[in-house]
Amino acid sequence: MIPRSRASWFKQSAFRVLDFFLPRLCLFCGGVVVEEAAAAVCADCEGKIEWVESPVCSCCGLVFASREGQDRLCGPCQTDPPPFARARAAAVYDGPVADAVKRFKFERQMAYLPVLQHWLQRPRCRELVADSDLMVPVPLHRRRLQHRGFNQALLLAGAFPDAAVGRETLARVRHTTPQIGLNPKERRDNVHHAFAVPRPAEVENKKILLVDDLYTTGATVRECARVLRRAGAKRVEVLTVARVKHE
Ligand SMILES: [Zn+2]
Ligand SMILES: [Zn+2]
Repeated sequence: MIPRSRASWFKQSAFRVLDFFLPRLCLFCGGVVVEEAAAAVCADCEGKIEWVESPVCSCCGLVFASREGQDRLCGPCQTDPPPFARARAAAVYDGPVADAVKRFKFERQMAYLPVLQHWLQRPRCRELVADSDLMVPVPLHRRRLQHRGFNQALLLAGAFPDAAVGRETLARVRHTTPQIGLNPKERRDNVHHAFAVPRPAEVENKKILLVDDLYTTGATVRECARVLRRAGAKRVEVLTVARVKHE
């Protein structure tokens, strides 16, 4: 057997040779990606991404249309505070980010996973991971999991290999229709009582970070946060790769 270090050296060299003959291509435009790039996306395509930057709602992370002023609470968070403390996303759901989320989740194109994980590692996102005790991916119902073959939220949590991940901390106890096409009220009703915490001791007094691919109206993560808090979580925050821009 080849020692592990030699094996990995061999593997790395093999990849370098392959890179030489087959340069890495951008998944979005097909252009060549520079060797030092962290993921298969070129600088031009990454330049089209609208990263989530202040000012945002200090609670739900809504990106304010006016780019002036500080982070502050948005109207809905003032009148109806969510059960989570903060929700943050890496980027606005548009352009290459929306393409990547859709191709990964609905077309099962796994090549997009490292790109999404790379975006999730932006400093503003890493901050939330560092300040949490347990990352909890939003679960899929068994039926949807069988259909899709993977839980996108669990795979995205893999962007932080050193973080503790509660794979089965939350359970989806009710099959729900997809949230797409529903209005905010219908979305809330649709996920009501859809989640449970089977072992409350796992979350008791802990700072939980919920992870998902996309924040739309927040109905799903609100419901998850509600049951986590009820099970004894000290605080719940939310991290997603993308966030729909509402304003
Ligand atoms: Zn490109
Ligand atoms: Zn808000």
